[in-house]
Amino acid sequence: MAIERVVIVGGGTAGWLAACLIAAKVPKVTGEAPSITLIEAPDIPTIGVGEGTWPTMRATLSAIGLDEEEFLAACDGAFKQGSRFDRWATGAEEDFYYHPFTPPLDGAPVDLVSAWQARAPGAPFALAVCPQPAVCAAQLAPRQRSMTPYSGALNYAYHVDAAKLAARLSRHAVGALGVTHLRDKVVAVDSDGNGDIAAVRTRGGERVEGDLFIDCSGHAALLIGGHFGVEWIDRGGVLANDRALAVQVPVEEGSPIQSQTIGTAHEAGWIWDIGLPSRRGIGCVYASRFLEDDEAEAILRGYIARTAPDVPPDSITPRRLSFPTGHRSEFWRGNCLAVGLSAGFIEPLEASAIVMIELSLNALIDNFPTSRPAMDVHAARFNELFRTRWDRVVEFLKLHYLLSRRDEPYWRAQRDPATVPPRLAELVELWRDQPPSSYDLPLIDEIFPAASYQYVWYGMGGGVPPHLPPPTPAMIAQFDQLRQRTRGLLSALPSNRALLGPQVTPGKREKVAQP
Ligand SMILES: Cc1cc2nc3c(=O)[nH]c(=O)nc-3n(C[C@H](O)[C@H](O)[C@H](O)COP(=O)(O)OP(=O)(O)OC[C@H]3O[C@@H](n4cnc5c(N)ncnc54)[C@H](O)[C@@H]3O)c2cc1C
Repeated sequence: MAIERVVIVGGGTAGWLAACLIAAKVPKVTGEAPSITLIEAPDIPTIGVGEGTWPTMRATLSAIGLDEEEFLAACDGAFKQGSRFDRWATGAEEDFYYHPFTPPLDGAPVDLVSAWQARAPGAPFALAVCPQPAVCAAQLAPRQRSMTPYSGALNYAYHVDAAKLAARLSRHAVGALGVTHLRDKVVAVDSDGNGDIAAVRTRGGERVEGDLFIDCSGHAALLIGGHFGVEWIDRGGVLANDRALAVQVPVEEGSPIQSQTIGTAHEAGWIWDIGLPSRRGIGCVYASRFLEDDEAEAILRGYIARTAPDVPPDSITPRRLSFPTGHRSEFWRGNCLAVGLSAGFIEPLEASAIVMIELSLNALIDNFPTSRPAMDVHAARFNELFRTRWDRVVEFLKLHYLLSRRDEPYWRAQRDPATVPPRLAELVELWRDQPPSSYDLPLIDEIFPAASYQYVWYGMGGGVPPHLPPPTPAMIAQFDQLRQRTRGLLSALPSNRALLGPQVTPGKREKVAQP
């Protein structure tokens, strides 16, 4: 039996990315174009947050045939060049570090660290080894207008309005890629003789049959959890945050747009701050074990009062969100693959959710099963790979908490050795002796490369190895060239506002490039 009919349940970011990517890419992989139906319950809202993406989004948008400039206009989008972490290491006002998307200077990690210590021992690691933090500090864009779409002088992703992103993807899927959109609620699932899903039934009386079902129903996890009962693995014992308060505040016309997500630690969690052309999305993430909701709201309001003093306090009504921290034990069961929140969610630090959606869909599509018997082999391989990837997300996020020297009860609890995954505990021991390297992260396509671990490790003061060989002349030469390159970028790149502001305005006519 060929895989001719794909049915997607859910119309959030996961569902519409699935629809677009499968429609645009599967015909190139298999030579056949499956029919795609996306079913979305009109009365169940999408989660509506998820504003930070990864550089993978550029390849995704390009593959589905969206024009970059038009995408930015339609989604109130801005460029994201990484994250800045404020007050994570010590809690002091001057405590900050960058995790930029552009990797450090090229070479052996030990040589890099040795040259940093020799040439700029007092400078923060990221600033010493990469031009991007200086570009971010100056609120510059990663590209010039004349550059080919989706390419830049520095690596970048986007900040977007999540609701506008899903809406834009939806119009593209239906209008340009031939996806069928059914606005109806799935109320029942029919199994066939071998336990696969044969069809889903809707409140409106439709019976939608399929060969492959993609569960994008969000936290409801209608198919993978509700129908198949696949176990949920709770990771809340490692990462304590389980709540968020989200608000949007307007910005003044023409005001600067930040080049990175700003994550500011507070007594029992952290605050995200994401700048878009027309507003800032701000949210307070916290652990309900350590902070009452009204205390979290007071922290959020204090942050807004400090960073956006013109916003009247009574205009702020935070949206409350609770989230479980964890993932399924299997993501692909029978003829059903879970993508997005139905597969798992590990708090928003480092914005790992949408990239996991993209990675899941690419793994499905690059190996798209052409017949049912092969599907079980694909499923087993997929499950193994993604169990590792979720473990990696948990470990990488935990590192941010583990290295903190803040002294509040929440932070002390986050460092409790009983909460640290054993693999991470081992790596931390190793990284006191030698820098994080690709030997520690052996997958070909690790979700977080060694560079990310270096930025966090040295950014938070994880400590340099006690014995370092002298830096090589080649690395010293790179250090000297970096200063020049940074100066060149600072003078050549336009500000985010100049690139995104006057020319790219919401309402710009939609252009659709050929996928
Ligand atoms: C506080 C917070 C901040 C976040 N920040 C980021 C970030 O910065 N970056 C990032 O990458 N991710 C972030 N995320 C995660 C991100 O929001 C999600 O991963 C992403 O939006 C995908 O959601 P989804 O499509 O899986 O689910 P949802 O958006 O919840 O969509 C679920 C869909 O399923 C439909 N549905 C449900 N039940 C039925 C039914 N019975 N029949 C038919 N349809 C049904 C709903 O109508 C809806 O369309 C954040 C999450 C939280 C909680």
